[in-house]
Amino acid sequence: MPTDLSLIDNFDTGTKVPGGSPFSGLWAKICADDPMNDTLCLNACLHANGSDNPSFSQKVATLSQQAIHTCYQCGNCSAGCPAAFAYDLQVNQIMRAVQLEQKDLALGAKSLWLCLGCATCSLRCPNAIDVARVMDTLRHLAREEKKISVPVVEKFWLSFLNCLRAFGRSYEIGTMVLYMLRSLRLTTDVDLAPQALAKGKLGLLPHSHPGKDAVGRIFTRFAQKEAQKLRESKEGL
Ligand code: SF4
Ligand code: SF4
Repeated sequence: MPTDLSLIDNFDTGTKVPGGSPFSGLWAKICADDPMNDTLCLNACLHANGSDNPSFSQKVATLSQQAIHTCYQCGNCSAGCPAAFAYDLQVNQIMRAVQLEQKDLALGAKSLWLCLGCATCSLRCPNAIDVARVMDTLRHLAREEKKISVPVVEKFWLSFLNCLRAFGRSYEIGTMVLYMLRSLRLTTDVDLAPQALAKGKLGLLPHSHPGKDAVGRIFTRFAQKEAQKLRESKEGL
């Protein structure tokens, strides 16, 4: 445990780090007894440093409702991530980038768009951080800031959502056609189509779904709320 827990508590309640820098002698004092405390102490300092002026890490923590600063870099999330082999930044590195206010690094990571949303990272986190939710939050922020590092993934999502809105459930061929048109990747995965068709995995026509209209209304309500948020932000409310 840290040498003086009250110091950490003060940081969490917003007291500025004495000396003005989180890297002052105070940090060395706190961490002197146990090098394992370094990460927690640094996190607490950083957390406090932005308390008067909400920082990127605080914004991510608020939006995701996760205690980002409690991540101590054990790497469990990355060790279990099935998409890790394709990531440019491992998920624990993304957590660290957020803690260190490395906004461009975090929002620019291709990994955000390759994440499968499987939540294995959340299940493996010893600090009960819902890491998948943090990844989701970062994707939303990246979209807001128009930093979409793998645009074809977003195009696929939009195509899927268009079909969901129109038919109330997924319609694979419709999704693929929309995706091909949006991305201009006209031959992507077409070699798999004969096999998928033969196994009945690709219906030529969309399924009829009784809840179709209800699903459509969810999209409409969402669009209305987004429009209202936009209006309010323009009016400075
Ligand atoms: S949710 Fe994303 S980051 Fe987490 S384990 Fe699954 S693929 Fe990896
Ligand atoms: S498993 Fe949790 S504590 Fe460990 S590195 Fe990932 S987010 Fe941080």
